[in-house]
Amino acid sequence: MTRTPSGGDVNADIHERLRSEVAKGADLLWETALELHAHPEPAFSEHRAAALLTDALERAGFEVERGTAGIPTAFTAQSGHSRPAVALLLEYDALPGLGHACGHNLIAAAGLGAALALDTVLDASAGRVMAVGTPAEEGGGGKVLEVEAGVFDDVDAALMFHPGVYDWARAPLTAQVQYRVAFHGRAAHPTGNPTEGVDALLALVELFNVLTALGRRLPAASHIQGIVTDGGKATNIVPEYAEGLFGLRAATTEELEDLTGRLRAAAEGVAHATGTRAEVERATLRYEHFRDSGPLSETFAEHLSGAGIGLTPPAPGVYLGSSDIGNVSARVPAIHPFVAIMDDGSDHTPDFAAAAASPRARDVLVAVTGALACTAADLLLDADLREEAWRLHRQTGR
Ligand SMILES: [Zn+2]
Ligand SMILES: [Zn+2]
Repeated sequence: MTRTPSGGDVNADIHERLRSEVAKGADLLWETALELHAHPEPAFSEHRAAALLTDALERAGFEVERGTAGIPTAFTAQSGHSRPAVALLLEYDALPGLGHACGHNLIAAAGLGAALALDTVLDASAGRVMAVGTPAEEGGGGKVLEVEAGVFDDVDAALMFHPGVYDWARAPLTAQVQYRVAFHGRAAHPTGNPTEGVDALLALVELFNVLTALGRRLPAASHIQGIVTDGGKATNIVPEYAEGLFGLRAATTEELEDLTGRLRAAAEGVAHATGTRAEVERATLRYEHFRDSGPLSETFAEHLSGAGIGLTPPAPGVYLGSSDIGNVSARVPAIHPFVAIMDDGSDHTPDFAAAAASPRARDVLVAVTGALACTAADLLLDADLREEAWRLHRQTGR
């Protein structure tokens, strides 16, 4: 919120009009959230959701591009020109078998509502408002591809919220990537000519042992979780090939790179010791850790507290997984606050899916949409806030 020297809110009138615009459209927003909830679509299959959202934006006069970054279910919608520019991020993928158990239906509706309110209230001279449809957060990393395609190159900030079980001003999200490790040995009959065999599965098992030893010395939040994806074909053949998939997480992208180096070194070491050959390859896009923009998340928290929801810093030492918002936050100042739609339990559960269509979710949706719109307006109208956000963003660096 932009303050006058006497402590007043210089954009008070704009904020008031944005909130009243959101209140006017609340029924329609809630319908959109419920419509998405009733037709959950998993990563990269969000055709119905993308059509629903782009149609609403196009009807309001936004200039819509579909198929952004080569992803059929991604889009951008713009109103206004050049800079300053603010991007509202809309997630809308669901979880296979669980529906909207991560509440992305609310993220999409909030981003849509904020974009529409800003378009109605702000002069075109205020800058550019962009709604970015970001598919496949739950695996696939639509935002990673969009960052690489330059979608955020001319943007001053990226804003979104995520429903949760906490009211946290910023998101503790780790960096994450998966690697496939394969060992090549030599097949043989285990009793007929055992000395001829080179057991690739035993090499893979040895890698698990080495990683367990390594795990004791890793920094907080660094973690490797592995599964066996190919352990041989029959018990009367020494496995000539074995393969595992390893999920790596770390508090920062730099620490994740370090962890990746350790996995490679461990695989090579095991291969050397067992007479096998190791192949290590990246199996997914890399999600970077999330860098919160303090000035923007504080602005958002202030606006949301005006609607009766108070946000606190996250509990120390707790990490809530990883997200492709991390890659956006490495590119431009970004926010990803959590706002509770239930008080305990966890997302990715049937209970959370039910909460994402509950009366409480409706209240949260309206409050958050207003706070997102007001934060976006502050960013566009207040050059000092923008400069401060960029200054800190450059300081934290890559
Ligand atoms: Zn999720
Ligand atoms: Zn999510």
